[in-house]
Amino acid sequence: MSKVIVATTSLAGCFGCHMSILDIDERILDLIELVEFNKSPIDDIKRFTKQCDVGLIEGGCCNSENVHVLRDFRKHCNVLVAVGECAMMGGLPAMRNGIPIRECIEEAYLKGPTVTGNTIIPNDDEIPMILDRVYPCQEIVKIDYFLPGCPPRADLIWNALVALIKGTPIDLPYETVKFD
Ligand code: SF4
Repeated sequence: MSKVIVATTSLAGCFGCHMSILDIDERILDLIELVEFNKSPIDDIKRFTKQCDVGLIEGGCCNSENVHVLRDFRKHCNVLVAVGECAMMGGLPAMRNGIPIRECIEEAYLKGPTVTGNTIIPNDDEIPMILDRVYPCQEIVKIDYFLPGCPPRADLIWNALVALIKGTPIDLPYETVKFD
C-alpha cells in the first residue's frame, strides 16, 4: 500500500496541537509506516514538493501570512483538517477580537507594561499585515474535517488519521466533542 502524504502547519497557534500529534507515543512508529510527511515542522520541509492527501492545520488566521499559508494548504491538500480550537474558532488569539485593532497594536508596541523606550509601531513591508480580527480557518477556505480540543487528545488525532488513511468515517466519541 502506498503511503498517504500528510502536511501540517501552525498558523496563529501555540504548537500545542503539534505536540499532541507527537503525543501518540510509540504509535509514531506505526504512523511512519503509514504516512509520508511533506511540508511540516515535523520533518522541517518548508515547501510543498508534491500534492498531499491530508493537511492538518493548527491555529487560525491573525495576519496575511497565515491566510497565504492556509490557501496554499487548500491548494496542495486533497483533504484539509482543522486541528484544535484555534483553527476551528480562533481560540486564545481571538480574545483580541473584541478590542479595536489600533488599541491592540499600541498595547503591544507602545503602552504595554513590558514595553520600554519604544516609540514606533513596526511598519516594514516584510512584516505580515495584521488582520482586523482573528479568523477561524473555515472562514478563509473550505475545511473538510474538524478535530475539537485544546489540544485535541492524541487518541483523537490518531483515530482521525487512521480513518483518513483507511478512507473510513471519522468517529468522534461524545466525550471528545462535549465537555460536560
Ligand atoms: S488549540 Fe490549544 S493547543 Fe492547539 S494551538 Fe490553540 S491554544 Fe495551542
